Amino acid sequence: MRGKMTQNDKSLRIVFLGLPGAGKGTQAKTFSDLKQIPHISTGDMLRAAVASGTTLGDRVKDVMDSGSLVSDELMIEIIEARVSKADCEAGYILDGFPRTVPQAKALDAMLEGRGESLRGVVFFDLSEEEALRRLAIRRESESRVDDNEETQRKRVQIYREQTAPLIDHYQSLGLLLHVNAEASIDEVQARLANTLL
Ligand code: AMP
Repeated sequence: MRGKMTQNDKSLRIVFLGLPGAGKGTQAKTFSDLKQIPHISTGDMLRAAVASGTTLGDRVKDVMDSGSLVSDELMIEIIEARVSKADCEAGYILDGFPRTVPQAKALDAMLEGRGESLRGVVFFDLSEEEALRRLAIRRESESRVDDNEETQRKRVQIYREQTAPLIDHYQSLGLLLHVNAEASIDEVQARLANTLL
């Protein structure tokens, strides 16, 4: 059945969904180590491409610097190539993809075409106020090249308009797993383990 785990599909394909600053990346790193599946962060992949000056990097640099989204077509192409690699056979964590309804639909179609399915979509629930507070701290501590107050606010707005509709999308597929992300890293990690394991 579409979107449901079939008996011979034991792979752990998971999507992490939530506002920038919700802790998806931090939790994905720990969970990826624990389950020995790759953490696929589209933001990290794109930043690496920009840093090493590849053709892809040149194409996405200006869009990223402005805090806007890279085109759905390009993102879908990148994800399809990445999840086709051998290290993804046992599963993976998608962090930062899908971010729009067309991306989610493309992911559904791609998985269906491959006879695969998602195990679940973890929604890291956090208020916008708390997300902006955490992002301000990240700005000071990590100095990520595409982080400044304006781009962070823009990302939160884009999340509200284009990514938040994915909550309903995955809820209706019966895949949504809710985690209250307004807690310490350790506490959210424990909640995640309770939800996923
Ligand atoms: P992130 O590290 O997830 O906050 O992503 C940083 C930036 O990379 C975003 O602001 C976008 O410009 C771009 N990006 C990452 N993932 C996606 C995606 N799925 N769709 C479009 N743009 C993306």
